[in-house]
Amino acid sequence: MGLDPLGLEFDSYSVPEVTEELRQQTGPSYRLSVSSSSGKLKIQNPSKSSLTEVSDKARVLGDKVVLSGTDTSIIALALDLSREGKRPIIVSDDYAVQNVAEALNLGYQSLATLGIREKFNWVFYCPACFRRYPTADTQDCPVCGTKLKRKPLDKQAAKQRAG
Ligand SMILES: [Zn+2]
Repeated sequence: MGLDPLGLEFDSYSVPEVTEELRQQTGPSYRLSVSSSSGKLKIQNPSKSSLTEVSDKARVLGDKVVLSGTDTSIIALALDLSREGKRPIIVSDDYAVQNVAEALNLGYQSLATLGIREKFNWVFYCPACFRRYPTADTQDCPVCGTKLKRKPLDKQAAKQRAG
């Protein structure tokens, strides 16, 4: 979402799935590769036991908490890091991610609190019933269950959203 790890004072970590997701998006993926090659961003796989623990926790929290595979990996990596004595902060505006992080006593922050000024410029929409969602807390349309798609939000709409 435009977070530049080079601008952070701390070591940053990510999971291989994020690199995969960003492959098609030139801006963020370029930044990710620069940060990664400069050694500031460490790409790491979480342990299997942490992945299981995160999935179990999300299930206990109920139906409203739907994590993607990438979200699960990110939280599991944070869990691993905390067990190495680090104090990771998960950067996510996703409600489900924040919920699970809190339940596991992991720190989290939204992008806004890190001073990210770039406007959120994607909108999620349902290709079947055409409802629009400002964020995708789930991968499927909450109304009809179709997998959500996303498209760039035009400037006018972005301005309205910013209020
Ligand atoms: Zn729908």
